[in-house]
Amino acid sequence: MSDLILVLNAGSSSIKFEVFEGSALRLLWLGQMEGIGAAPHLLVRDAARRSLADRRWTTDDAPGDHAAALGIIMDWLKGVMTGRRVSSIGHRVVHGGPDFAAPVVITAAVLRRLEALVALAPLHQPHNLAGIRAAMEHFPGVPQVACFDTAFHRGHPWEADSFALPVEFYDRGIRRYGFHGLSYEYIARRLAAEDPALGRGRLVVAHLGNGASLCAIRDGRSLDSTMGFTALDGVPMGTRCGQIDPGVVLHLMQAEGMTPAEVARLLYKESGLKGLSGLSQDVRDLEASDRPEASRALSYFAWRVRREIGGMAAVLGGLDALVFTAGIGENAAGLRARICDGLGFLGISLDPQRNARGAAEISATATAVKVLVRHTDEERMIAEHVLATLAAGHAAAA
Ligand code: AMP
Repeated sequence: MSDLILVLNAGSSSIKFEVFEGSALRLLWLGQMEGIGAAPHLLVRDAARRSLADRRWTTDDAPGDHAAALGIIMDWLKGVMTGRRVSSIGHRVVHGGPDFAAPVVITAAVLRRLEALVALAPLHQPHNLAGIRAAMEHFPGVPQVACFDTAFHRGHPWEADSFALPVEFYDRGIRRYGFHGLSYEYIARRLAAEDPALGRGRLVVAHLGNGASLCAIRDGRSLDSTMGFTALDGVPMGTRCGQIDPGVVLHLMQAEGMTPAEVARLLYKESGLKGLSGLSQDVRDLEASDRPEASRALSYFAWRVRREIGGMAAVLGGLDALVFTAGIGENAAGLRARICDGLGFLGISLDPQRNARGAAEISATATAVKVLVRHTDEERMIAEHVLATLAAGHAAAA
């Protein structure tokens, strides 16, 4: 009977999942249950992206919480996994706090420690934990591994890990944690496998998706990240503001009387490309629009990303490669060109044709810095972590 690894990414009203087979991690199925508690919708596809299930609920039997949603996903899985068994489960967990620098096998004690971190990521962590509890209920005895978005950044030097607040705040956990770590780790490992010298080099990876950040990586390890205490900091995103003078937040609350909830909504949901353009958070919409606000929003985005590339190169003491990844980084050739425009002084220069067709290497021949486009795969990274973490556990127990 072959073994399956189930990877779960539980959000506020959705559970995304991927199923891999065997130690070669062959992707079998990927899907999501959206609209949990409201208008649930299950979509499942195979590795060739052919639809296998597309179901909506309008009746009383609609899944109302994560456990019910997971039950439906499991029922679907059981119907197709004949001759196979789910032998391990990996969970994406947004926050590992100051202590979790690597994936961890989930026990009752670990779960209690993760619950204590809810205060650091109140918008995400409770849903991640609901996914873990639901999976423990449905798969008693199946080993489960938590993989953290923060873990890859835990080796940051103190200067990159701290805010310039009195030190007791650092001790209380008010730190620059950084996020998107599973994506950066995936990219760093793939590049090291492709080109070991580059893997030991100085990389700036720009994870530009609906959420966006940049990471400075040297010798395969994260040195700095544009994201800080929350996933709000750094470059502007689809609907998030990115770096902002904290005085603005004080002003909005003290002088304009906005409540913390209103400010949170503004900064998380109404800012970024959506707020700047007044049109859309989606780069495809902005590129297709001839409205000046759309072009301005894209220019702003490119400006801030370019600025952070310069900052990350300074932290690294030079640059060997710039890597674009995630939805925008992998697909938006026009934005990549805008971002790189003016970075010739760093040795960055694009080949327009290669950039337009999204080649794996888009830098002009004979430039000092390679500019690469790579697909990121956080779910596969989690599946790799599950295998390695459980193997290490078995080796330690032997
Ligand atoms: P992600 O969060 O990584 O899935 O990225 C989602 C974002 O990528 C979308 O909101 C778009 O802004 C952007 N995107 C996806 N496909 C394209 C494309 N073909 N051209 C430009 N932008 C794209």
